[in-house]
Amino acid sequence: MAVTAAALPVVETFHSLQGEGVHSGRSAFFIRLAGCTVGCPWCDTKHSWPAAAHPRHSLEALAAKAHDAAAAGAGFVVITGGEPLHHDLDELTAALHQRTALPLHLETSGVDRLSGHFDWITLSPKRHRPPSDDLLRHCHELKVVVHETADLGFAEVMASAASRLRAGNGSDPPVLLLQPGWQSTDGQSLALGYVQSHPDWRLSLQLHKNLGVR
Ligand code: SF4
Repeated sequence: MAVTAAALPVVETFHSLQGEGVHSGRSAFFIRLAGCTVGCPWCDTKHSWPAAAHPRHSLEALAAKAHDAAAAGAGFVVITGGEPLHHDLDELTAALHQRTALPLHLETSGVDRLSGHFDWITLSPKRHRPPSDDLLRHCHELKVVVHETADLGFAEVMASAASRLRAGNGSDPPVLLLQPGWQSTDGQSLALGYVQSHPDWRLSLQLHKNLGVR
């Protein structure tokens, strides 16, 4: 379903702090691409799902904004969504690399093939739409959202698959993160308990939501 274009549908761009994962708390410039067919019931960006509802931005304009964000202190660019890999990201990352030296990060559910060139890939796999081997092989961090007990077993299956596939590349295993679903008391209790008894895993919290920022 990937589509190559000199412009992409964009929900929003903004300069804030990365709220989740290994790079949590760092200054980042976000490009939230529109379009997602994964359909997670708990999704907090459902407005991003219909790609056609959002304006298309030229790749040059997006790269210019990233350039300005770098001057304002952003430490890296995050391509998020929606599901950004529904689009072919080769041209976008090339345009960004032309205008800025900022590292490029990707946040994806991993249901599509990988495109673009990234310095850091966060894979957040979904039980109802498991990711491709391509993304398991290339992810630097594996972040599983926890709502119920079955999510913990899924997290271990994903961790084993990612470690095996990355080892085939000669790469280290990904950083393993459990993130409680937002305002899910069951998810928080399960994730906290699991991390306490499984030291390979770390807790990821949504810092930006706790701070009330984007
Ligand atoms: S993959 Fe992300 S954007 Fe798409 S439905 Fe799931 S949480 Fe929402």
